[in-house]
Amino acid sequence: MSLCLCVKEETVKAIVLFGSPGSGKGTQAKMLMERLGVPHISTGDMLREGIRQGDDLGSGVAARMHSGALVSDDIVNRLVEHRISQSDASSGFILDGYPRTLAQAEHLCEWLDGRGIREVVIHLAVDYNVIIARLTGRRQCPRCGTLYNIASQPPRVDGACDLDGEKLAIREDDSEGVIRERLAAYERQTHPVLRFYEKAGRRIVQVDGSFDLPNAVFQKIREAVDFDDCSKNGR
Ligand code: AMP
Repeated sequence: MSLCLCVKEETVKAIVLFGSPGSGKGTQAKMLMERLGVPHISTGDMLREGIRQGDDLGSGVAARMHSGALVSDDIVNRLVEHRISQSDASSGFILDGYPRTLAQAEHLCEWLDGRGIREVVIHLAVDYNVIIARLTGRRQCPRCGTLYNIASQPPRVDGACDLDGEKLAIREDDSEGVIRERLAAYERQTHPVLRFYEKAGRRIVQVDGSFDLPNAVFQKIREAVDFDDCSKNGR
């Protein structure tokens, strides 16, 4: 069965997905993309790709990204506009990591309004302590890079990589102090943007992803957003 990006009889082409680090947003974005057959557009991924390719965009944003600062609104607005104008996004798209500022949200709203596209905002909320536990439980093999989680995906032998036996390490950005800082930065950025959508009368779907497995969280999103079954509408 395929699904349409239609919500309660209205055509929705844009899904704006919010979720803090450790919320499982990446997994849900992937599941939405596969289920709906529309591209998952992550500004972080696009900017990292620009840096990898060494193009003009990448060289202009590398320093800001590496310092953890936001890239200018103008650059990301243009990047997103270009991406969502491409043919594979004509039936819809999932935005991840954008908009992150009020100026970006206003820009996107205007762009979508001008094309008669309405967005639905999904906020994947996860309990703060659950996120801390998830992220601080992360371990990585310094030799092969395999990721584990001591709570949800432990190695077979405590503290050692399943693949090469190397002693597992905690990544620097997974230390508790850094995680708390990343979460605080997320809250600072996201709240004004969510408030903007509320004030603009956009539908914000709140989904609690604290305690369920990814499939169950996806089911909650499906139920909350109420995606139509295309076959019901003959689409
Ligand atoms: P992410 O992978 O979404 O955490 O993004 C990684 C980095 O890319 C961020 O720390 C920013 O430097 C930059 N970035 C991604 N999306 C945006 C955005 N919408 N506005 C400004 N900077 C962004």
